[in-house]
Amino acid sequence: MSEALALEPHVASAVKAGAPPAILLENVNKWYGAMHVLRDVNLQVATGERVVVCGPSGSGKSTMIRCINRLEQHQQGRIVVDGVELTDDVRALDTIRREVGMVFQSFNLFPHLTILQNCTLAPIWVRRTPKAQAEEEAMEYLRRVKIPDQANKYPGQLSGGQQQRVAIARALCMKPKIMLFDEPTSALDPEMIKEVLDTMIGLAATGMTMICVTHEMGFARTVADRVVFMDRGEVVESGPPEELFNNPRTDRLRGFLSQIL
Ligand code: ADP
Ligand code: MG
Repeated sequence: MSEALALEPHVASAVKAGAPPAILLENVNKWYGAMHVLRDVNLQVATGERVVVCGPSGSGKSTMIRCINRLEQHQQGRIVVDGVELTDDVRALDTIRREVGMVFQSFNLFPHLTILQNCTLAPIWVRRTPKAQAEEEAMEYLRRVKIPDQANKYPGQLSGGQQQRVAIARALCMKPKIMLFDEPTSALDPEMIKEVLDTMIGLAATGMTMICVTHEMGFARTVADRVVFMDRGEVVESGPPEELFNNPRTDRLRGFLSQIL
């Protein structure tokens, strides 16, 4: 294993103990037509590990995490999530969709459903949870993201920050083992960013395995076990946040940091 992919001590001990990684990408390649957007991407995320992915626009961050829950398909290499290799097998796809929660930049709530209905839809229809139980659990997650009082409103009646917290609660209602975030705060007004980041920090404290694409470097320093820097479809550097931000080894990362910090 290259130095760039060295694991944090607590994660390394879990790996030594033989725990399989929660997420494994091995030499993953993807093209859109002739455009090569993921180039031999290797990434291992241990159970409970928090990884922040950063990099310039167009570097393949969204494509990579969308491949992890099969919203996009890779063409070469292997992706294994919680021991299940991502293939065309419908069962593999089902497992991934249940175990991996995703939060997008645009909240993607159903506008014609209440907050509570947004949160109970998938548990009722995908997990077959009885309605009353799904509602009780949804209220618990809405309390956790601190908006239980909005349960009967519609998404359009909430602020962007509140909607994004609903999106997080909605994902949690499926009881995922892994959460993927794709720039969850970049569509928000500045005053709402903190409330969403605080929710994510709270989630990280529960031990959730997380991959977050974000340029919020304060968040990365607080939460990330590891930061992965991507550029032009490649993982260029990877390491603990302090190391990566204070001692970038490549000009590509130095250039990127000088633009965002
Ligand atoms: P990032 O999230 O780092 O900004 P993306 O993963 O969205 O990067 O995009 C990587 C590259 O793939 C970009 O050049 C983008 O234009 C291209 N791309 C993304 N999605 C598609 C798509 N559905 N069809 C064709 N090209 C795409
Ligand atoms: Mg993106």
